[in-house]
Amino acid sequence: MFDFLSNKFSSIFSKITGKGKLTESDIDQVLDQVKDALIEADVPLALVQTFCDDIKKEVVGQKVLASLKPSEHLIKVVHDRLKAFLGGQDSVPFTFQLPSIVMVMGLQGSGKTTSIGKMAYLTSSEAKAKGKDRRILMASVDFYRPAAVDQLEILCQQVPGATFYRAQSTDPVQAAKEIMAFYQKGLFELLFLDTAGRLHVDEQMLDELKQINAALKPKYKMLVLDAMTGQESLAVAEQFNKAVGFDMAVLTKMDSNSRAGAAFAFRYALKKPIVFVGSGEKIADLERLYPERLAGRILGMGDITSLIERANEKIKQSEQESLEKAINKGQLSLQDFADQLKMMQKLGSLSQIVKYMPGGSNPALSPEMIQKGEVELKKFGAIISSMTHKERIMPKVLDASRKKRVAAGAGVTVADINLLLERFEQSQQYVKLLKKFGRFPGVFK
Ligand code: GDP
Ligand code: MG
Repeated sequence: MFDFLSNKFSSIFSKITGKGKLTESDIDQVLDQVKDALIEADVPLALVQTFCDDIKKEVVGQKVLASLKPSEHLIKVVHDRLKAFLGGQDSVPFTFQLPSIVMVMGLQGSGKTTSIGKMAYLTSSEAKAKGKDRRILMASVDFYRPAAVDQLEILCQQVPGATFYRAQSTDPVQAAKEIMAFYQKGLFELLFLDTAGRLHVDEQMLDELKQINAALKPKYKMLVLDAMTGQESLAVAEQFNKAVGFDMAVLTKMDSNSRAGAAFAFRYALKKPIVFVGSGEKIADLERLYPERLAGRILGMGDITSLIERANEKIKQSEQESLEKAINKGQLSLQDFADQLKMMQKLGSLSQIVKYMPGGSNPALSPEMIQKGEVELKKFGAIISSMTHKERIMPKVLDASRKKRVAAGAGVTVADINLLLERFEQSQQYVKLLKKFGRFPGVFK
């Protein structure tokens, strides 16, 4: 998501990171690059201008916080502006109030039907995780495309416990009323109503939506926008908003290599939240949008908060404490190293972890390198488990004959063991550095 911007931004900011002093011309240079990146990402020019002007005003007008270096201060200001642009503080995750009618609108092919399947699936799965069943009804008044209703029916079969209803009438407004009657009689908690789109905004479509809106008075009107549409999608959103009005948006196809500039501008231009983001074709490919985390990710600061959340979920307190002890001693044994490897494996695959780390979307880390790293990690785990306790605590005792024995036990070569010892030595240096300069903020709190 936003890979294009995030690659650009991390390279812009990596150039100034660590600089002790920033002159006004340094700042201008950075902002010029930010401007170029945003324009290249297809963010409307006027918004780019506002965005950069605001940053400049803030950086120049503000006193630098004592605890921050000037470069960090600039990144913080950009981060805060970005966060505001994308919707502000991360709030409680959006969920539908019950009971509710959700009317889903958008142009043809934007992903309405798919997104309904995904939202129903998410709602049902989250309820199930809490031991509850949601009474979800899915129905369509899209009679414009012949197979559109069938498509929703097929999706509904993938949503545990959801019901599909096919209206008798093929007049959209009549059908909508019929669907609502079925919804009320059946005591459903949620109705997802799929509507017809056209290739372009047109009067008849908007008029139909207006009438359905008047008849059903849905609690939620959601606009589905295709991230690949570019700036034009902002104009589409404005037209829908003027004619029918909507409360929030779902942004689809963020997995595409679109530069997502329109998405970036959407919140600021329309003053409405993007609550969900579609990230693939499968029913589970829907994510909530958290502005603050996303801003961090775009800046290549890494989604440290999510990483910490995941870490806390998966790593037992005691494991963290023993690692912390070793770090405080400024020394690790191979046993600690093995524990560290295990802990990393619990967090997920390297490729997943890398995404969350500062500079993680750095193009310098190719998928091949990451894959190689994963294979290496597995090998290291096997090698260490073939060692005796003594060898793990004091790797220095590993002479040629011991190495041969361990290699045979782990099914690797002596060269693999030497590589492990080399990596281990590097990580020792790293631990010493950590101890000297303080820890990762929060990670080992
Ligand atoms: P509708 O006409 O608005 O109902 O659009 P559909 O739900 O039928 O989706 C149109 C096409 O976009 C389908 O091929 C979907 O599989 C695809 N699609 C929808 N959402 C996403 C998404 O988030 N990612 C990807 N890659 N494809 C999507
Ligand atoms: Mg459809």
